[in-house]
Amino acid sequence: MATRSDAQQLDAADPLAPFRDRFTGDGPDGSWDDGPDRRIYLDGNSLGRLPRATPAALARVVQEEWGQGLVGSWAGWVSQAARVGDALAGGVLGARPGEVLVSDSTSVNLYKLLRAGIDARPGRDVLVCSADDFPTDRYLVAGVAQERGLEVRELASHVDEGLALGDLVAVLDERVAVVVLSLVAYRSGALADLVAVTELAREHGALVLWDLSHAAGAVEVDLSAADLAVGCTYKHLNGGPGAPAFLYVRRELQDGLRQPLQGWFGARDQFDMGPAYEPVDGIERFAVGTPPVLATAAVEVGVALTAEAGIAAVAAKGRALTDLLVALADERLPQLRLASPRDAARRGAHVSLEHPQAWQLTQALVDRGVVPDFRTPDRVRFGTAPLYTRFVDVWDAVERLAEIVDADAHLGYPAERSRVT
Ligand SMILES: *Cc1c(COP(=O)(O)O)cnc(C)c1O
Repeated sequence: MATRSDAQQLDAADPLAPFRDRFTGDGPDGSWDDGPDRRIYLDGNSLGRLPRATPAALARVVQEEWGQGLVGSWAGWVSQAARVGDALAGGVLGARPGEVLVSDSTSVNLYKLLRAGIDARPGRDVLVCSADDFPTDRYLVAGVAQERGLEVRELASHVDEGLALGDLVAVLDERVAVVVLSLVAYRSGALADLVAVTELAREHGALVLWDLSHAAGAVEVDLSAADLAVGCTYKHLNGGPGAPAFLYVRRELQDGLRQPLQGWFGARDQFDMGPAYEPVDGIERFAVGTPPVLATAAVEVGVALTAEAGIAAVAAKGRALTDLLVALADERLPQLRLASPRDAARRGAHVSLEHPQAWQLTQALVDRGVVPDFRTPDRVRFGTAPLYTRFVDVWDAVERLAEIVDADAHLGYPAERSRVT
C-alpha cells in the first residue's frame, strides 16, 4: 500500500516539480498553500490554472500594443494565430509548421473542418461519431448531417474502455465521408489509437476529424499520422477561460479543402478588399474573422510552458499520477468502481470513479477542498495536471474521499444537481 511518504518521495524525484511554481496557487498573492486544509484542484482538464507569466503578458499586449501601438500593432497581431499555432504544432502536437492555427472555439472549428471534410469526399453520405462523445461533437455532427442531408452512424464505443477497432470496422464502408472522434474520451479518459484508427478510415476512403480537447497538453500526440483535428487550449494548455481553440489540417490536404465560413481573415490578399472570396493558400484559409488577440496572448504563454516541460515528460507524469490514484482507490475506496481503462497506456491524464451517489460525493469533496468534476450519469472525474498536481495531492484527495465515504458524509448533500457541474 502506497503511504503518504511514498507519494512525497515520488514528488521529490519528479523532474517536473519545479513547474508548479510557474502557476498561481491558492494562497495569498497566488503563493502555494501546502497546509493540510489546502484546496486540491483536480479539474485542470476543465479549466487549467493561471500561469504566473500570463498577467504580465496580457498587460503588455494591453498597455503597449493596444494602448500605445493602437492600429499599428496589427502588423504583429495579424500573424499571431499562425505563430501560436506553430508553437503548438512543434511543441505539443507533433505537427509541422503551417499545419496548426489558433482560432474560434472548438465547436466552430469542428463545424468548419467537418464541412470541409464532407466536401472533400463527394458522393459519400454518412458521418460517423461516437454515441459517447462530448455533446458539442455529437450535436455538430447531427446539425451538419441535417444541413447536408446526410446519415449519422453512431459508434457503440464502450463508456469506460473507449473505442475498440472492431467497433469502427463495423460502421465503415464506402459511404462514410468523415469520422469524428475524441482522442481522449472526456468521461473515462480512454485513449484511442490515433494511428490505427486513421489508417483504418483511410482504407475505406474516409477522413478522421480528431477532437484533441482532453489530449492536447496531456498525452503525446503524433499528428503527422492524422488528417484533421481540433481541440481546446483552456484545459491542459492553461490558456484561460474561453481561450480560442486550435485546428490542424495536414499540409498536403490544405489547398484541396474549403471551409464554409468565408470570412475576410481566410481570404487571399485580405487587404485588397476584393469583390469575391478566394481562400488564401495554407492553414490561414481556415481562419474566419478578426482574432481574439488578448486571449491568444494567454494561449501563447500556456503552450510555451507545456513545450518547455516536454510533452513526453508531461504524459509520463500523467500516467504515474493516475496510476497512483487508481491504486489508492482500489485499496481505500472499494465502494467506488473504476470507470476508466486500468492500463495507463490506454488513458489520458484523468480517471473517473463510478458511484450511485457520485453527485453527492462531488459536493462533499468540494466542501472539503477537493475539486473534481461530476460527470453524468454517476461518475466523479479526477483530472491530474502534470505541470502542477503533486503525488501527495492525489494521496490526500483519495484520503479525504475515503473519509467521506466511510462516514456516509455525502448523504447530507442534495441529490438534485445544479446548473454547472
Ligand atoms: C471541452 C470540449 C469541447 C469544448 O468545446 P467549446 O467549443 O470550447 O465549448 C469540445 N469537445 C470536447 C471533446 C471537449 O472535451
